[in-house]
Amino acid sequence: MSLQLGELRVPRRILMGPGPTEVNPRVLRAMSLPVLGHLDPAFLEIMNQVTAMLRAVFQTQNELTLAVSGTGTAGMEATLFNLIEPGDEVLVAVKGYFGDRMCQMAERAGAKLTRLDTEWGTVFEPERIGAALKTMAKPKLVAIVHAETSTGALQPIEEIARLAHEAGALFLIDCVTSLGGTPVLIDEWKVDAAYSGTQKCLGSPPGLSPVTFSPRAVEVIRNRKTPPQSWYLDMGLIARYWGGDRVYHHTAPINAIYGCHEALRLALDEGLSVRFARHLRNHHALVAGVEAMGLTLHASANRLPMLNTIRIPTGLDDMRIRGRLLNEFGIEIAGGLGALKGRILRVGIMGYSSNPHNVTLFLAALEHILASEGVKIPRGAALASAHEVYTQAAASVSDHSGK
Ligand SMILES: *Cc1c(COP(=O)(O)O)cnc(C)c1O
Repeated sequence: MSLQLGELRVPRRILMGPGPTEVNPRVLRAMSLPVLGHLDPAFLEIMNQVTAMLRAVFQTQNELTLAVSGTGTAGMEATLFNLIEPGDEVLVAVKGYFGDRMCQMAERAGAKLTRLDTEWGTVFEPERIGAALKTMAKPKLVAIVHAETSTGALQPIEEIARLAHEAGALFLIDCVTSLGGTPVLIDEWKVDAAYSGTQKCLGSPPGLSPVTFSPRAVEVIRNRKTPPQSWYLDMGLIARYWGGDRVYHHTAPINAIYGCHEALRLALDEGLSVRFARHLRNHHALVAGVEAMGLTLHASANRLPMLNTIRIPTGLDDMRIRGRLLNEFGIEIAGGLGALKGRILRVGIMGYSSNPHNVTLFLAALEHILASEGVKIPRGAALASAHEVYTQAAASVSDHSGK
């Protein structure tokens, strides 16, 4: 094969999966700025600004807030590996694929793991977690996923945080999918550690994992008897580079941090509450359209606005539907994971991808595909229902501003 290749080209896609999502061109433009040294004072100032904006997005005053190099999974390891020491009692509440991943990591960190499971698509009643904590001698950490991307369910957090603290444990959440798309109130909910990812509702490319640790969690890290298993993800070392004496730890992914900076700026400029309302509006339109086609969503209550799980009508092939969406319409969505493989479609409307244009195109394309595969659906009803939601939202906005 000749390696005389032309300039790189990629197909044009509409990203409506669980991430990565589409990116505002301003983010890509920021990423094309010249590379600076990782200790250049100008770059250090950009890091300071990213930290300040991350605190605003996490709605926290936590000093130890930064973007770990690596995707959301790196943040998962950074939080778990720094808070857990071998022999620590850890409770993980699992209601989907990512809760299971937390369990695997907690075990690798040597935790004495208590694992609770609930049906995928539902959420935990706090009482179940409270009862499980009573069976543990000295629980150190309780961990749960806020927005379970594999099922489309949003876990209420506050009461579980209270129970964890009552039992003397730290409380950790995965907010990879929720941050920037629905309220994540780290301080108000009293969350001790949280991690996210840049490529979901924050709207920049994959590669960074925002994390935040409460002063109490920082104390626990400081008082470790053993160093964390991972040198690369040792928060004590990383914190020195991000906020301490700026000692070299690893070369920061400079241009990814530019992109994150611009994405955070755009999010705060839009306003978090306006941004959450936008995600909700597009979710309501999508659900109205999907239900008008006679389809049902997998998560019955506590639905995520940014990740919608649609049950596949019996007899239809998941891979075929998704293949047609991609090849004929350029739309990327995802299928089910684990127990839900082949049973659901996962449609993300996150960050920059969360807009009426994407929602209406997706509904039209899905209707066309299902009808041509022989599913009996009322033609035109999906778009009409989604459009109705948008029209009403516009009316209520103008009502409000007219007062
Ligand atoms: C995407 C996701 C992750 C993993 O993030 P990566 O960026 O793929 O490493 C973890 N948790 C949840 C809930 C996610 O949606």
